[in-house]
Amino acid sequence: MPYEAEPMDEVDPVCKMEVDPEQAHDLGLETEHGGVRYVFCSKACRAAFVAEPARYAGVEERPAL
Ligand SMILES: [Zn+2]
Repeated sequence: MPYEAEPMDEVDPVCKMEVDPEQAHDLGLETEHGGVRYVFCSKACRAAFVAEPARYAGVEERPAL
């Protein structure tokens, strides 16, 4: 049974967990890097990203070799 009415979840770039963007916003678990907004499941993941944004933000651009 298809169910496509769910709000779009975003992925925590640190732990790859799906995060509800609205909830992350309410909890302050978001940040911006290079014009892109990132959301996190916890303060620990947000802190890890903020400490090394390039390490996590660059993951999706890694060549699929
Ligand atoms: Zn996380």
